[in-house]
Amino acid sequence: MAGRPYILAETNWKAVRDTQYDVAILPWGATEAHNYHLPYATDNIQCDHVAAEAARRAWDAGARVVVLPTVPYGVQTGQIDIPLCLNLNPSTQAAVLADIANSLDVQGIRKLVILNGHGGNDFRQMIRELQPKVKLFLCAVSWYKVVDPKGHFTDLGDHAGELETSVMMHIAPDLVRPLSEAGDGHERKPRIAAMREGWAWAPRRWTQVSADTGIGDPRAATAKKGETYLNETVGRLSRFLVELARLDPADLYE
Ligand SMILES: [Zn+2]
Repeated sequence: MAGRPYILAETNWKAVRDTQYDVAILPWGATEAHNYHLPYATDNIQCDHVAAEAARRAWDAGARVVVLPTVPYGVQTGQIDIPLCLNLNPSTQAAVLADIANSLDVQGIRKLVILNGHGGNDFRQMIRELQPKVKLFLCAVSWYKVVDPKGHFTDLGDHAGELETSVMMHIAPDLVRPLSEAGDGHERKPRIAAMREGWAWAPRRWTQVSADTGIGDPRAATAKKGETYLNETVGRLSRFLVELARLDPADLYE
């Protein structure tokens, strides 16, 4: 059986040699605890799925996109005291990103989308530094920000809560433990008002904020909610890929 032509790990040199790719997609996840009921690879499984599904739809619409292997380690400095949360510092990520971007750049690929799947990753400052050094157009999308979760979920906690649990129940149900085993994902709020209001920021120290590593109550999650939310997300993302594939990066503005 032939592999999917838009997934680099499944394609081959003959196909790559004969294809002019418009856009490369680099999914970037994390390896970390997700409450008691979701697996450590949750962010990677979600990234893999969203990237592959958006790429499939974009490919079918004529865009030549290619999904690179997912980077499975994210920034975990706030979870460094939780066993087997594996940290890649932002400066290490910047070095990895620069090497991959340089490879694509010398090979004549014109556009790279970093598809982020982990709240602790932030590629914007890296892009600001790297972009002037390469011809390759760089941009970043966090897949969980493509569609506002407000219309889909009642609890908006951002880690192993209703959103991620619903998505995992849809795409990897065999890896989701029964919700009766999940913690309630209660988040202890900051004592300082400015931090509660969000205009003063410090990274959360996970073990002080959550007893079960979750932030957000997963118990209203359903596979159906995950399917509906992902379908809308992937639809939007694939239309973005098609638009980006067609556009000359030197001519982005009206
Ligand atoms: Zn996650």
